[in-house]
Amino acid sequence: MKLKRVGVWVAVVIGATALVADYVYDGLLRRSLRRLLSVVRPETGDGDQAGDGLPGSGEPAVSNISEVPKSGETPIEFPNAELIRACVHCGLCLPFCPTYNVLGVEMDSPRGRIYQMKLVAEGKLSPDNPHFHKHIYQCLDCRACETACPSGVQYGRLVEAARSIIPPRSNVEEAARRAILAGALNSDPILAMIGLGSRLYQRSGLQSLVRSTGLLRPIPRLNRMESMLPELEGSLVVAPLPPIVRAEGRRRARVAFLSGCIAAQFFPQTNRSTIAVLAANGCDVLTPPDQGCCGALQNHSGDRETAKNFARHNIDVFERTGADYYVSNSAGCGSMLKEYGELLADDPLYAAPAAAFADKARDITELLVELGLRPPTHQVAVRATYQDACHLRHGQKIKDQPRELLAAIPGLEIVEMTRSEWCCGSAGIYNVTQPVLSESILEMKMENVIATGADTILAANPGCLIQLQHGLRERGVHMRAAHPVDLLAEAYGADERLDSNGGERK
Ligand code: SF4
Ligand code: SF4
Repeated sequence: MKLKRVGVWVAVVIGATALVADYVYDGLLRRSLRRLLSVVRPETGDGDQAGDGLPGSGEPAVSNISEVPKSGETPIEFPNAELIRACVHCGLCLPFCPTYNVLGVEMDSPRGRIYQMKLVAEGKLSPDNPHFHKHIYQCLDCRACETACPSGVQYGRLVEAARSIIPPRSNVEEAARRAILAGALNSDPILAMIGLGSRLYQRSGLQSLVRSTGLLRPIPRLNRMESMLPELEGSLVVAPLPPIVRAEGRRRARVAFLSGCIAAQFFPQTNRSTIAVLAANGCDVLTPPDQGCCGALQNHSGDRETAKNFARHNIDVFERTGADYYVSNSAGCGSMLKEYGELLADDPLYAAPAAAFADKARDITELLVELGLRPPTHQVAVRATYQDACHLRHGQKIKDQPRELLAAIPGLEIVEMTRSEWCCGSAGIYNVTQPVLSESILEMKMENVIATGADTILAANPGCLIQLQHGLRERGVHMRAAHPVDLLAEAYGADERLDSNGGERK
């Protein structure tokens, strides 16, 4: 056990070093090299951060399916290849695809991406083709195309399958990815250090200094990550959640709560609101301390093996609670929990437990409506607008439940936003890996958010909240960004009703 822990730390230190090296390489050396090369030969625009096919980037857009560069004739094993056949190339999904909308490139539409997957499955396009890599990773995996598709194409499963067969571009990138996604996000001590370090960084004044001097500007990706850091509230060290909180009044259910990885450090108040609201609605809430990361980010980036290992661990841990439901307050995590059955369908030991686990998984808004919300009584006088998180609206098909809950809050005025179902550009780690595209998508979102005239923007996913806060901050707009359960907790007067040490309700 001790040896395993040491192993994780060694992997994380090596990976973090590799990550810094990658930033430095990407930020300084590669750019300097490009500048040097552009003097000796004309710039083609291909492959640069700014050359991601955005208008004016200088890259020749691959706009016609016949222009896809082909290589190799040996069919490779494409996971879930049979799903490709469901696409009839009608194009009805195109108007709903944010990347197609921004780039206007067929290969960056759902139809174009599925066509490229088909070529790969048939051995007519190599999975390490840089164009294939680019178009597949420029996808947000927002799954808006799934909602729009009349043929029932399971696009999310397809794009994750495509990512699983694309080889990493470099060992450095692979080491960095593994260190963060497979190591840090599943280690409580490292997550706690990230939380503490980020709060110290903000409260010591170092953040203001870095931002005012532009110290990180020469290292774009690091600078980008820094600019995304939300304003962190609460005490320097996040107190662990109570392992059990008893139901208020008649008990209606026993639920086990998945508290999240980075969200538990960045939005601890939302986790406490979640527990308080569940308890106010007659739930015993168990928060298993040995739970792990859900595996969503790993699965979305194509690392299905790590996602499967995380899923097996959580299935064991949550099964032991004997809970009726497994609840998440994060759209991305909840969507992943519901996919455990599919993820482990071929595992002889875990296929059945995974399917049973998925049946019990619920988003908090879904469960509260299912149980029947106990009417909150406290006034919450805000004018709010609601952003549909992609993995809630498109991944879990949950659209009405959050709105129904918000409508029950006394004093709350809800203003619907134009295209609330449109991705905000967060998409897991997309806002770090695809900063230019992410900003273009965020720009469209911000226009619609600001046009509502609301004073609060609500989203049921921590990644969306980080992205929206970033968008508001960059534009100097003062608007609160919160999770719907934060307002519900206020409406129950419940946000202060958990003591931070013991866990029993006062
Ligand atoms: S994914 Fe669906 S909507 Fe889009 S082109 Fe294929 S069949 Fe048509
Ligand atoms: S998942 Fe989103 S970004 Fe990707 S193809 Fe579908 S609609 Fe476009």
